[in-house]
Amino acid sequence: MQGHRHSLFAGIRPKTRWLLAVSALPLFGMVAAFGVAPDTDTRPVPARTLVQSLTPALPAAPAEQTYYRIDELARGDTVGDVLRRMGVDDADIQALVATPGVVGAGLTRLRAGQRLEGRVGDDGSLQTLAFGARGHEVRVRRVGDGFALDTQPVAVEYQVLMRSGRVRDSLYDALDAAQVPEGVAEKMLDLFSGDLDFRRDLRPDDHFSVVYRMRYRDGEAVGEPQILAAEFVNRGRAYRAVLYRNAQGREEYYTPDGQPLKKAFLKSPLDNSRITSGFTLARYHPLLHTMRAHKGIDYAAPIGARVKTVADGRVSFAGWQNGYGRLVVVQHAGLYSSAYGHLAGFGPGIRKGSRVTQGQVIGYVGQSGLATGPHLHYEFRIAGVQKNPLALNLPSARTLAGAERVRFLTASRIWTARLDLLRGTRIAALD
Ligand SMILES: [Zn+2]
Repeated sequence: MQGHRHSLFAGIRPKTRWLLAVSALPLFGMVAAFGVAPDTDTRPVPARTLVQSLTPALPAAPAEQTYYRIDELARGDTVGDVLRRMGVDDADIQALVATPGVVGAGLTRLRAGQRLEGRVGDDGSLQTLAFGARGHEVRVRRVGDGFALDTQPVAVEYQVLMRSGRVRDSLYDALDAAQVPEGVAEKMLDLFSGDLDFRRDLRPDDHFSVVYRMRYRDGEAVGEPQILAAEFVNRGRAYRAVLYRNAQGREEYYTPDGQPLKKAFLKSPLDNSRITSGFTLARYHPLLHTMRAHKGIDYAAPIGARVKTVADGRVSFAGWQNGYGRLVVVQHAGLYSSAYGHLAGFGPGIRKGSRVTQGQVIGYVGQSGLATGPHLHYEFRIAGVQKNPLALNLPSARTLAGAERVRFLTASRIWTARLDLLRGTRIAALD
């Protein structure tokens, strides 16, 4: 961070750090941040700030630690699959289903795309759960060893808001001036982070527009804002993202011509890290005092840093394996798998067989096994053979084609038109 030729970020470093800390928050316990359909509305459980608890903690985290989780049913999922993914243990899943009225309220009849929100203890105990069924919201809360049920009609309002701003001194000042809520700002930057490095690429006069939806209950904003469309213009080049529910029933972001924004594989399993050892076929091993190949990539990171799976998949191994120490291996589509070694502990709900989605926390950096210091040993494997992920041409996520692309273009027109409108206005904020 030393060599900024640009003064764009001069003098705002404390705020930058603050925003980065905040940005760590919603990803922590969330499997699917997006995916709201009006008929699946559920009562939100306010997220408790977890930032402070991220760094210490790890393998022996206090039992009362709970995580706010949102997940939705994918095709072929049972409610049990989703609850397991949220980290709920089997005993509580059984107790929940056995609670009088819960099945009658529709829990086991939820369909693909419907959403569950809950608070789960790191011991696998379910504390609260909310889901929408037939125009009602159903809330379940823990009472002793069992659960109590509460069903009531939902009165929820949605409001679509638009914000637009222009960078003068710093991006963060511009976001503030445009009154972009923190949660929206963070998601917007995240959307474009595959194309733009906001620390290096920004220039004065860059500008942005965002259209997002907020959920209100009794006039109070609740839940996570959802970005419907966004644009960032960097050095005159426009990057755009539009939310679309695809044929698989998943809401994803696409460019206006139907290319997915999300890459099939993340560039790195850590947010902030640097490579200390690359992929080589021969390397002197500091502990074993031998020349050994290093068929992975080492990332320096503090103990407790969150390690994310680079792609959707299923955990094929989570446990101790020789020199790897605590290791998680994720099997992805096709012949691809990824492995994360020397972990201090595993992410919530991570065990053999768990399904994971790209960006989900599967563990925390440590130095278990043969490690001279805290770091992540990351391997990318094809058909079980380690490859250098930085040298591979990996497949990208699925592009919309044919009839679906036509459907997307029609559906997204309203949002691209709003972005055009916002860009034309050149004002700081617009409701
Ligand atoms: Zn290594």
